[in-house]
Amino acid sequence: MQAPSYQQKSFCQLRPVAVVCKIIATLACLAFLVLVDLHYPVPSYLYLWVLVAGICCWAAARAQTPDFLFVMATLVLTICSACLAQLAVAMGEPTYWLLPIGMVLSLPSATIHMRPLHYLVCSSLIWGTAYLLIQPTFVRPLDFTLTMMTMGATLLTGLAVCIAYQRVRKTVFELQQQLHALAYQDPLTGLPNRRAFLQGLEAAGAPRFFLMIDIDDFKNINDTLGHAAGDQMLIDVGKVLQATVPGHSLARLGGEEFAVAAHAADLAHAEQLAQRLVAAVHAIRMHGLVPSISLGLAERGAGEAAASWMQRADAALYEAKRRGKNRYAVDRADTPAATGSAPS
Ligand code: GH3
Ligand code: MG
Ligand code: MG
Repeated sequence: MQAPSYQQKSFCQLRPVAVVCKIIATLACLAFLVLVDLHYPVPSYLYLWVLVAGICCWAAARAQTPDFLFVMATLVLTICSACLAQLAVAMGEPTYWLLPIGMVLSLPSATIHMRPLHYLVCSSLIWGTAYLLIQPTFVRPLDFTLTMMTMGATLLTGLAVCIAYQRVRKTVFELQQQLHALAYQDPLTGLPNRRAFLQGLEAAGAPRFFLMIDIDDFKNINDTLGHAAGDQMLIDVGKVLQATVPGHSLARLGGEEFAVAAHAADLAHAEQLAQRLVAAVHAIRMHGLVPSISLGLAERGAGEAAASWMQRADAALYEAKRRGKNRYAVDRADTPAATGSAPS
């Protein structure tokens, strides 16, 4: 089961929030525009700007990359900033409105940008646009200084919030990954565990062949070399199996049992794969011991339940054990189990 990357996860989490915030900003801008228009003469092209902001909201909702989402979000907020600044100019005494416009548009956006640089660029454009439109009306000596101080404080505060949110998202993501590994990975071999394997079996495009694998006389390995060497043997066998079946899903089901769900074209290819697995494990050497595996192979019947399919592979595995181990056996619904053994 493949977990999404941090970037993918962050993007999926932030996109809906960013889009909702931009829609609210655009609607608020439209409401301001209509209200002010009732009392003051305002340029009619401002309605066109709000329309463009609405189209950017629509495009943001369909964004597939963080960069595109950032561009659309920045466009919406910059247009809103320009529109509100124009309204402030139309109403007279726009200096009073510069700080609220800059702060209300730039600070909340600190939480919805994926990267601090995105926040800095977006926030600078919001402030810069409102400033350029309103600054010509500055009359008092402190207007410029106070505006610059508020602008700087807002940018720094927003930056701190953006970085803090980014860290929280990363920590949560790493914890989720650890939980995912605990839930779906075998800690000894690093292979997928039974839970991951069973979920994969039910997924779309599921494979046709099930190979149930059991290490032969594994108890002897533990008894002869000790439990730690037994563990090492499990790791080595896991690696050899993985190297032999690239492209097929492999898991440690528990104890000294492994399973492969193979995408082989037909039974003959699946049998070749089974033969290769038996031979590959028999080629391992560990402190003079030569391990071997027995393997049961079953093809999934049309519409057959996973439990029944696995049971048939298990029955074939038992047959391989019965016939002398170090071999595979095939469960055929209508013919007796055929066997093949590793070359000695
Ligand atoms: P057979 O050929 O019939 O499969 O015999 P076997 O000895 O392999 O099977 P048996 O079921 O008798 O023994 C399995 C052993 O595997 C017993 C158990 O202690 C050992 N085992 C299970 N899990 C682990 C593990 O994680 N590490 C180690 N070292 N041993 C394990
Ligand atoms: Mg066993
Ligand atoms: Mg065994």
